[in-house]
Amino acid sequence: MSDTPVRVRIAPSPTGYLHVGVGRTAVFNWLLARHTGGTYVIRIEDTDQKRNRPELIQPILDALKWMGLESDEPEVRQSTRTDIHKEYTKKILESGHGYRCFCSPEELKAAREKARKEKGIQKYDRRCLHLSDDEIKSRVDAGDKFAIRIKVPDGESNFSDLICGDLTRNNEEIEDFIIARSDGSATYQLAVVVDDHDMGITHVIRGNDHITNTYKQIMIYHALGFDIPAFGHIPMILRPDKRKVSKRLGDKDVNEYSSEGILPEALFNYLCTLGWSSKRDNEILSIDELVEIFTTDNFSAANSIFDEEKLLAFNKEHIKRKSDHELATMVAPMLVEAGLTSKYWLETRWDYLRSIMTALRERAHRMGDFITMSGYFFSADFTYDDKAAKKHFKPEAADRLEELADRLEQLPEFSLENVEKVLTELADEREVGRAKYIHPTRLAVSGTPAGPGLFDLLVILSKPVVLERMRKAAEHIRTLSN
Ligand code: GLU
Repeated sequence: MSDTPVRVRIAPSPTGYLHVGVGRTAVFNWLLARHTGGTYVIRIEDTDQKRNRPELIQPILDALKWMGLESDEPEVRQSTRTDIHKEYTKKILESGHGYRCFCSPEELKAAREKARKEKGIQKYDRRCLHLSDDEIKSRVDAGDKFAIRIKVPDGESNFSDLICGDLTRNNEEIEDFIIARSDGSATYQLAVVVDDHDMGITHVIRGNDHITNTYKQIMIYHALGFDIPAFGHIPMILRPDKRKVSKRLGDKDVNEYSSEGILPEALFNYLCTLGWSSKRDNEILSIDELVEIFTTDNFSAANSIFDEEKLLAFNKEHIKRKSDHELATMVAPMLVEAGLTSKYWLETRWDYLRSIMTALRERAHRMGDFITMSGYFFSADFTYDDKAAKKHFKPEAADRLEELADRLEQLPEFSLENVEKVLTELADEREVGRAKYIHPTRLAVSGTPAGPGLFDLLVILSKPVVLERMRKAAEHIRTLSN
C-alpha cells in the first residue's frame, strides 16, 4: 500500500433501499478507512433519471447512520456534478478517445440483431467511428442528436485486484460503450470515474458484479490521464436460495433489522463474516476489534450465504456483551411504547429494570425479546400457559403454593439464599422433589414455564408481589378443581 492516505467511498444509488449487500460494502470500506486512519465518504449516485427515487435517499442515509457508517465528510450528491461530468466527456471527445454516435435506438437494435446473426456477437458495429469530419460537422450543425462512445482500444485490459488477483479481459469482448447520452447527461461509467478522481478515492471496494464495469472504467481513467485507484471486488452475498441478494427480490432493508431488534454492531460483525475472515477462533468481535485487525488480505473469492439464524446468534452474543445499564437504557423506551409501563414509573425504578436485564440477558436473541419476556415484571394481569398449567397446577399444587407462601412470608430477608433454603427445606419435609414446588411457583408468578432462574425471579419480583401471586394461583387451582 502506498503512503497516500486511504480515501474510500460507498456509492449507493437511490433506486432501492439499502440492503445488506450494500451495507456490507460500506462496512468494508469504512473498516479500511478506520484501520488505516483514512477517510470514508458517502456518495449518493442519484443521476439515473428513470430509476431514481429521491424519497429513498434519507432512509439509505438513516440505515448507514444506524450502522455507524456516517460520512466523514459532507456526503456527495452525484446529481450536483452533472456539469463537471459534461466537461470531462467533452475532453474525451476532443482527445480522440471517444466519438459521437448518431445512431437512433431503432438503428442500434437492428444493427445488433444483424451482427448477432452474422458473427454471433452483440456489439456496436462502430459505424459512427468512421464518419468523416465533414459529415460529423454537418450533422451536429443540423442539430442531430448524438451520444458519445468510448473508442475501446485494441488488445487486452488487465488490472490487479486486491481480492481477486490479476484479472484480464480481451478488449474484443467490450463494445464501444456510451459515456454520454443523447441529452448530454453522463452515464454511470463516466460519472463514477470522474467523481472517484475528484474525490481523491484511492481504493474502490465494491461487489464483484462491478468487475465488467472496472475494465471499462479503467479505459476512462486512461483516456483522462487520471491515476487509477486500487480495486477490490468482494464476492456476492447470496440468499439461502443461492440467488443474489437484491432489493428486487424483496430482501430486507437494513432499517428493518433495526426495528426487529438487531443491534447494529451485531449486523456489522455478522456482515464481516460474509466474504471476509477475521482469522480468529471467536467470530464475535466488537467494531473496535474489527477496526484493529481489518486487512484486505483476508477476503475470500467465494460467494457467501446470508443466514438470518446466524445473524440472530450473533445478535444474542452482542446483547450479552452489553452492560445491564446499556440494555436498560435501550429497553426502557421500548417498554413504554409497548404500554407495559410509563416513563415516570421507570424513572424511580431503574435498579428494578436493571435486575430484569440481568435475569433475561442470556435468553434474548432480539432486543424485542426483552419486551415479550418481561410482561409479568410489570403486571399481574397475565394468563397461565395452558399446557404448563395442566401439568403443574394439579389440585395438590394449591396447598403447596400456599404453604410455601406462608413460609416465605416469615423470612426477615427475602434473599436468594433464604428463598432457596425455604423451598428446599419444605420439599424435604414433605418428602417430594423440589420440582413439585419450583414449577407451580414459577407458573404462579410469571404465567409461563420458561424464564430466568426461579430464585432470581422471585427476588426481583419482591416478596409482596410473589406472595400475592402464589396465593392467587392457589385460589385459581382450587376454583378449577371444585
Ligand atoms: N452506484 C453503484 C451501485 O449502487 C455503485 C457504484 C460503485 O461502487 O462504483 O451499484
